[in-house]
Amino acid sequence: MSDWKLFTTEPKIAYFSMEIGLSNEIPTYSGGLGILAGDTIKSAADLKLPMVAVTLASRKGYFRQRISRDGWQQENPIEWHPEQRMELLPSKALVTIEDRDVKVQAWLFRVKSPTGGEVPVLFLDTDIPGNVEQDRHITDSLYGGDQAYRLKQEIVLGIGGARILDNLGFIIKKYHMNEGHSSLLTLELLNRSRRPVEETWDERASWDTTRVMEQCVFTTHTPVEAGHDRFSYEQVGRILGEPVPLYLLKELAGKDQLNTTLLALNLSRYVNGVAKKHGQISQALFPGFEIHAITNGIHPFTWASPYFVNLFNKYLPSWANEPELLVRVDNIPDEEIWDAHCGAKAYLFQYIEEVSGEKMDLDTLTLGFARRSATYKRGDLIFRNLDRLIEIAGGKLQLVFGGKAHPKDDPGKKLIQRIIQNSCNLKGKIKIVYLENYNMDVAYRMIPGVDVWLNNPMRPLEASGTSGMKAALNGVPNFSVLDGWWIEGHIEGVTGWSIGPPPTETSVEPNNAEEDVLDLYHKLEKIIIPLYYENRPAWIKIMKNAIGKNAYYFNTHVMMRRYVTEAYIR
Ligand SMILES: *Cc1c(COP(=O)(O)O)cnc(C)c1O
Repeated sequence: MSDWKLFTTEPKIAYFSMEIGLSNEIPTYSGGLGILAGDTIKSAADLKLPMVAVTLASRKGYFRQRISRDGWQQENPIEWHPEQRMELLPSKALVTIEDRDVKVQAWLFRVKSPTGGEVPVLFLDTDIPGNVEQDRHITDSLYGGDQAYRLKQEIVLGIGGARILDNLGFIIKKYHMNEGHSSLLTLELLNRSRRPVEETWDERASWDTTRVMEQCVFTTHTPVEAGHDRFSYEQVGRILGEPVPLYLLKELAGKDQLNTTLLALNLSRYVNGVAKKHGQISQALFPGFEIHAITNGIHPFTWASPYFVNLFNKYLPSWANEPELLVRVDNIPDEEIWDAHCGAKAYLFQYIEEVSGEKMDLDTLTLGFARRSATYKRGDLIFRNLDRLIEIAGGKLQLVFGGKAHPKDDPGKKLIQRIIQNSCNLKGKIKIVYLENYNMDVAYRMIPGVDVWLNNPMRPLEASGTSGMKAALNGVPNFSVLDGWWIEGHIEGVTGWSIGPPPTETSVEPNNAEEDVLDLYHKLEKIIIPLYYENRPAWIKIMKNAIGKNAYYFNTHVMMRRYVTEAYIR
């Protein structure tokens, strides 16, 4: 028996995600959703949970970002080769796409924990001799191509993934859909659990939706209606065919278009949003369903800088598999917290000098902002009034930015360009760098190395956000709009600071950029800058609170224990 077969001896929870970010060497992720998936699997391995993960091989990755002299983003493909770091599994699956048989194979990557736990991750791949040329490229580009390409990817992920698990002999107790991209797997399960028509009163009753629901868990990540994938039934008929009768598909996935979120909602017993607030927003979007909330987390060992790993190992041994111990952070002497932070800051600044030639100043308060460059994240908010910003910050502030825009998102690219133009305008007054190609490695250096982590999205569009949790783990306080996880993590002046008004209970949020930016400037000038320069012990207390009151809770260990007790074993 080859040893991968050991994975098939016990029933498992199958975790499906279009993107999974495990390490920079496996560039099959674009942003938060993928990193969350990777962190989820790492914690599952640490906790020895019986899981298997399924994703796409994305042989061309997302893309590598370069920024031209005039501040415009350029995209280059990243080639990576699953055959160099993964094991090809012997079984294949067949799916039907545009009436053709398409073969799907799976590369096995083992996520191994020092605890001895191990979670297999299957990277699905259609680049196989025998598939027609165009089908060999279905699993190339993450979020690339048109709607038809996306639908084909979702067929491979959902239906191909469910079939290959079966062909390999996996026994699956629950299917966890991380976002709606994999929800076509429910159609495969519907077919598997169909009862003979003779046993039921009618054809509809032979489709056992209840049985499928018992097997499915769905996590939604998108707080806006327009964010959910939709396909016309004309396109669905042409590409997917009719795995279940059209009347049934329309009943489950929407009358006019196939909405993958609706399909997942209708066929999952347990559904959740990714922060308390996001659960409420999702509940308002989909009033007919019961939507719970499990707040996202980060994998502690992955996101602690080497400086804090050493410190935690010294004072809080076994913290990595029991991050609750971070609650005892006050046992660490202040000077050692500060030294670890200065180490992380110097490590970032060394990187900045290498890649951009810019020399940052170690003694200057440094704000960091990096995330996908989507306009709702308002990365340029801090530049709204340049004179005021100079007045507040001249000589006392540096800024580090990063983030990629989706290749088709021109407004997102213009946002990057505006940030870069502003950094030129402020030359000599406020030092600003925009780090190219924000990815896991850049995040790992950048987030722990700044002094304050800034976030100012439009409410309520930040479903959770996780980079702020990475900051907190490294003693970097958040300065953020009250949205997503920060509503739960924020204690004003204790764990960090808010920007703008408190959240409301309703889905419609007033977003007054002027009000937000006034508050941002005010707190920077009157609270954050004076505290940083004039009261170091009080500052270090806030750093410790970020660790002891945020990081001890907002991590994927705590999150996975909740998924187990609230979603998987119900
Ligand atoms: C953590 C992380 C994200 C997600 O950050 P958000 O705050 O949720 O936007 C995106 N990209 C990379 C590379 C990350 O490490």
